[in-house]
Amino acid sequence: KNLFSHLTQAPSDAIFAIMNAYKADTSENKIDLGVGAYRTDEEKPYVFDVVKKIEQEIVNDPSLNKEYLEIEGLPEFNKGCQILLFGKDNPLITSGRIVTAQCLGGTGALRVGFDFVKRHLQGDVYVSNPTWGNHNQILDRVGLNQINYPYYDPITKGFNCKATLDCLSQAKEGSIILLHVCAHNPTGVDPTEDEWLQIADVCKTRNLIPFFDCAYQGFASGCLDKDVFAVRKFAELGFQMIIAYSFSKNMGLYNERVGAIHILTSSQDIATKVLSNLKMVIRTLYSCPPAIGGRIVSRILCNDNYYQQWVQELNVITGRIIKMRSLLKNELDNLNVQGNWDHIIKQTGFFTFTGLTPQQCDQLTQDHHVYLLRSGRMSMAGITSKNVKQLVEAIKIVVQ
Ligand code: PLP
Repeated sequence: KNLFSHLTQAPSDAIFAIMNAYKADTSENKIDLGVGAYRTDEEKPYVFDVVKKIEQEIVNDPSLNKEYLEIEGLPEFNKGCQILLFGKDNPLITSGRIVTAQCLGGTGALRVGFDFVKRHLQGDVYVSNPTWGNHNQILDRVGLNQINYPYYDPITKGFNCKATLDCLSQAKEGSIILLHVCAHNPTGVDPTEDEWLQIADVCKTRNLIPFFDCAYQGFASGCLDKDVFAVRKFAELGFQMIIAYSFSKNMGLYNERVGAIHILTSSQDIATKVLSNLKMVIRTLYSCPPAIGGRIVSRILCNDNYYQQWVQELNVITGRIIKMRSLLKNELDNLNVQGNWDHIIKQTGFFTFTGLTPQQCDQLTQDHHVYLLRSGRMSMAGITSKNVKQLVEAIKIVVQ
């Protein structure tokens, strides 16, 4: 008897499938707009210079060894993450009310966070329509019930604040609401500061618990502080909440798997109990985090010199992405490509939700070697000053 014969084929992950199809394409003119990873203007992956320097330092540091880290990771990493997210002078940092643990990337932080929610809070989880596909899968696996809130308006290609507020004002008390801090994936559409205040209002009134996903700090406005407005404002308004954080993009540490989970509690006493329970979740998932990524991040965050170098390099990256947005929009206009493309420069972060149909996306891939999600999501980081013309010519053909 065949032990696994009852299994059916599970669907392949859409983003990884596109990544592999791109790799397998032998065309010289292929364009990778699938995965959310930064590429230089020469279409090359980028390792931060400051990261390379610290890696050398770590290799040659005789005080380091391979002993287990604490379940919650490196203390200096956790402290540095709190400062980066909440701000250096935020009284919360010294209050002892924030529980933080180093996690395996943003995905690891989300999984740990939702496992914690499942065990200790329950409640439905409201997710934006659409959201990053892995949110839906993680919630499904953890066994939490999901409800969509409208979020994206396909007509304006912007944020539908009214529909979101209407939906949330009907939510059952104690529900969890998953919010993207900035540079929403896949739409590139973020609430304004005023709209965040309205969201906070409805969360207060309905007693909803914010669960923030922060995977792109620095990529929306180009300013680290401005991009985390929502988290700092909600904290100032007295919310107890959860934040999953990723360093994959803003430090280019994709394969090091480094991120963090923060739980903002109401008192130091409760924080101690929350931490003990969070550690139970982590211990039974993977015991404790790996060290290298955490060491790199903590050295950047705890050393002024390295911190400045990091910010400078990040500015170059975010600056290039922002430039590619206007370049793409200008080229589409110059070639008189059918349709209105203003949303490309209104949306922010890594992605543009182009409005292209799945059939048009398929045609881009099959006929023009352009790789993107079938939802029409395009990674701006894959566009370069050299490939933009070819891309726009291909778009012109498929929208005709
Ligand atoms: N959250 C969002 C919205 C993302 O787009 C991503 C990565 O693409 C993540 C979380 C997690 O990133 P990672 O697990 O690679 O750190």
